[in-house]
Amino acid sequence: MTPSGAKTGSNAEWGQDVLAGDAGNQWAPAWQRETPDPCGGDWRGELKDAIRSGKELCERLAIRRSRHSDEATAERDFPVLAPPFFVSKMRRGDPRDPLFLQVAAAAEETLDVPGFSRDPVGEADLAGAPENGVHPAPALLKKYAGRALLMPTAACAVHCRYCFRRHYPYGERGVNTAGVAAALDAIAADQTIREVILSGGDPLTLADTSLEELAGQIARIPHVTRLRVHTRLPVVIPSRVTDGLLAALTATRLTPIMVVHANHPREICETVAAAIGRIVGAGVPTLNQSVLLKGINDDADTLTELCQRLVNAKAMPYYLHQLDRVAGAAHFEVEEARGRGLIEQLRTRLAGYAVPRYVREVVGKGSKIPVGERPRSQAGYEQL
Ligand code: SF4
Repeated sequence: MTPSGAKTGSNAEWGQDVLAGDAGNQWAPAWQRETPDPCGGDWRGELKDAIRSGKELCERLAIRRSRHSDEATAERDFPVLAPPFFVSKMRRGDPRDPLFLQVAAAAEETLDVPGFSRDPVGEADLAGAPENGVHPAPALLKKYAGRALLMPTAACAVHCRYCFRRHYPYGERGVNTAGVAAALDAIAADQTIREVILSGGDPLTLADTSLEELAGQIARIPHVTRLRVHTRLPVVIPSRVTDGLLAALTATRLTPIMVVHANHPREICETVAAAIGRIVGAGVPTLNQSVLLKGINDDADTLTELCQRLVNAKAMPYYLHQLDRVAGAAHFEVEEARGRGLIEQLRTRLAGYAVPRYVREVVGKGSKIPVGERPRSQAGYEQL
């Protein structure tokens, strides 16, 4: 059972699963229910019409919960933002809906919990930059060998309450046109960078023409060979996957890779699967990263269903992240021991390629750290 009481078919294949408890859709398999696009396929309309307050979100979903003054404080710190398509998939009247919980401000966010900070992965602190090279330029992060993360925008299409960048000072850190220009210069000057990762913010909030121009500028740097895009847009606003976007991603000599972000199987409906299918069909390998979140996906049935839907949609499960300990998100944290147990259960249920790597980020480490990964066999590979 999911925390919301919604049963998921643990071994159900695509199209055979039933997510009971969806108000108004007593039995219909979730994937078969084409979610009507409230903005008629206009992704800019989705952005414009996004819900921007918890009050409006609750009214839209007929969710009655006594409003705590700390919720308003949490919203002031990190505003609510939820596009209509994503909201349309939430269950009416259910304050425990796993999609609702990802975007609704909660009173717990205002608690000061030891171990949780505004900069949990050491990105925003520029003081140590010259020594550790984390910030070779404004809007550029270089934490791992061969890769650099370029932030072309601070804007997102949705505000995920658990986001480790929810306090990131984008304005102060040069996430703007000048900052991007300086970042491109820094990438050009560093011959070790093979892959540029566009992140943010969400780079797909930019116009196709802007993305095309940016991809072209990166492609003119000879030592860069790959362009990776981290985005939640294909999941929360699938109409964003336009012909223009696919053309922009595939127009250069760079090998494009897309990493989408879904945490719960209900996010991968037929419309989203079709959007991902178009990305893959255009020749862009697509992966998914999720965050392990208490009350949302911290049970084996939900994670199994999520991975199956992702694989069937051709977005390979890549990472399951242990929550970064960002201030305001402590109530989402799942103990690592429990996370390890969940991954072990996934290994008994799914093919090896469908099990994401369970990782956490440790400040100063040169890669993500696997959480409780089984030791490799002597030959170096497990039998999968
Ligand atoms: S950066 Fe990603 S995880 Fe963070 S709020 Fe934006 S879409 Fe959500």
